[in-house]
Amino acid sequence: MFAKIIDGKAIAKQVRQEVAERVQRRIQCGKRVPALAVILLGSNPVSKIYVTNKCHACEEVGFLSYSYFLPITTSETQILSLIKELNDNKDIDGILIQLPLPPSINTLHVIQAVSPLKDVDGFHPYNVGRLCTRSPAMLRPCTPLGIITLLDRCNIDLCSLHAVVVGASNIVGRPMSMELLLAGCTTTVTHRFTKNLYRYVKDADLLIVAVGKPHFISGQWIKSGAIVIDVGINRLKNGNIVGDVDFEEASKIAGWITPVPGGVGPMTVAILIQNTLNICEMNDKIV
Ligand code: NAD
Repeated sequence: MFAKIIDGKAIAKQVRQEVAERVQRRIQCGKRVPALAVILLGSNPVSKIYVTNKCHACEEVGFLSYSYFLPITTSETQILSLIKELNDNKDIDGILIQLPLPPSINTLHVIQAVSPLKDVDGFHPYNVGRLCTRSPAMLRPCTPLGIITLLDRCNIDLCSLHAVVVGASNIVGRPMSMELLLAGCTTTVTHRFTKNLYRYVKDADLLIVAVGKPHFISGQWIKSGAIVIDVGINRLKNGNIVGDVDFEEASKIAGWITPVPGGVGPMTVAILIQNTLNICEMNDKIV
């Protein structure tokens, strides 16, 4: 059996097209175009590529984007003061802080400084709390929501599945487990201290892997017909990008699978764009 491929590139393109059409309708009605501010501290080349891609995606759908490339020596006070300025600026809808931040900066202070109403990444404790408590969710973290969107657009019914999440980070694993619970899955979250990981993975109808280790999950671990979502992005010494799942092996056993690249990655950016537009539309109602 060969798994069906979940084509993240194509679905992300659809989402971006839908956003672009909504922006065109705003312009026709004489409304303001959405604007995203992106802050990057330091000169990490990979982070720079991510920021550039996000700004390109904004331009492609007709948004304004403002990038703030700050030197590595920027103090926490300086970054907090820039965030305050952007929070107060009515022309800015979304604020994104490119992570990771240098160790001299307290990441939680920075995330908490962003207004929950401009928190495009959905990382502010207020937005995470709403997701956890079905308040209902307002701004939802981009990668987990991107995965839910992928599954939804492939018409995969999640209700009652046993979902196993490998990795429990604040940006992927934890919010992912909340999304899966919302979707009616019985959810198991595993992490670096989990004993006998294989046992949980083998029982997963839906497996989501976000660890950051190339080919960490081998094909033999996967239940026949399972849905496999690979979040990992790992650059090998030869320059190739691979996921956390051994795609070649897993695709012979799984029912559905995301490739790397071209699976979850493009969806994260598409949902970021969608979140920015949603904020802008919320602001229409407030003003
Ligand atoms: P992280 O380092 O913050 O978290 C990794 C998680 O893996 C931790 O919870 C840790 O407990 C767990 N882990 C480590 N070793 C393990 C083991 N032996 N068994 C079980 N769990 C183990 O990483 P992250 O930010 O969540 O990112 C994970 C991967 O996903 C990275 O490759 C990253 O580049 C990628 N990522 C991709 C996207 C995307 O859009 N596709 C978005 C975010 C992150």
